[in-house]
Amino acid sequence: MSIKIDRLNKYFGDFRALQDISLDIPEGRLTALLGPSGSGKTTLLRIIAGLESATQGRILFGDRDVSQVPVKDRNVGFVFQHYALFRNMTVADNIAFGLESMPARSRPPKAEIRKSVERLLEMIQLPHLAKRYPAQLSGGQKQRVALARALATRPDILLLDEPFGALDARVRKDLRRWLRSLHDEFHFTSVFVTHDQEEALELSDQVVVMSQGQIEQVDAPTRLYARPGSRFVFDFLGHVN
Ligand code: ADP
Repeated sequence: MSIKIDRLNKYFGDFRALQDISLDIPEGRLTALLGPSGSGKTTLLRIIAGLESATQGRILFGDRDVSQVPVKDRNVGFVFQHYALFRNMTVADNIAFGLESMPARSRPPKAEIRKSVERLLEMIQLPHLAKRYPAQLSGGQKQRVALARALATRPDILLLDEPFGALDARVRKDLRRWLRSLHDEFHFTSVFVTHDQEEALELSDQVVVMSQGQIEQVDAPTRLYARPGSRFVFDFLGHVN
């Protein structure tokens, strides 16, 4: 599912957090929103998700204007920096949660949910941890469970907010590689927020460089390097925190 953002503005009181954002996010690709802290990345992601509403402008999923559609009807999956797993539920129950909480008329039968969970556990290579609780997992394992949970309901769009930000460098590298291969296999449309340029360049098909609520540049990672006169990439490093 492609995403089109059309002349979006977001004000918090008098503060204009997003200024005339227009952007095409192609279907089946990984798009990074890259920029320093406070540049508006999370706000844009939350508006795409429907967790926050725009002050002006439209969001389209494919041909459908979803600007007024609530989050539960947008068919998006989320992964946050701090996992947001349910502490009192096992890994398997966390993954099943999205399916179990579907309205009765669309909810798959119990046996099918169990099968889906098994498949997802295989996919994240953690079938042996199905009965553990989040507190018994490492950070990297928790984030893999969070990803499986986000994918359980087969969202059209996967949104990730600094998904590897809380992990140490080695785990982060593994998870990046792993997200990339998962993505190449399943072809969901993903948008992820990061202030880590290396991560954006390594993981994504398209990088959207943001600064002070505006888009500075949109390009393939390889072209960001090549572009003469770009304010990106290395200048930009200076004010990333
Ligand atoms: P980033 O994700 O790039 O760090 P954010 O989207 O979180 O940036 O924030 C962009 C700007 O909007 C920041 O200046 C932030 O302080 C402001 N902002 C974000 N959310 C709110 C809010 N709920 N109320 C007021 N200001 C906000």
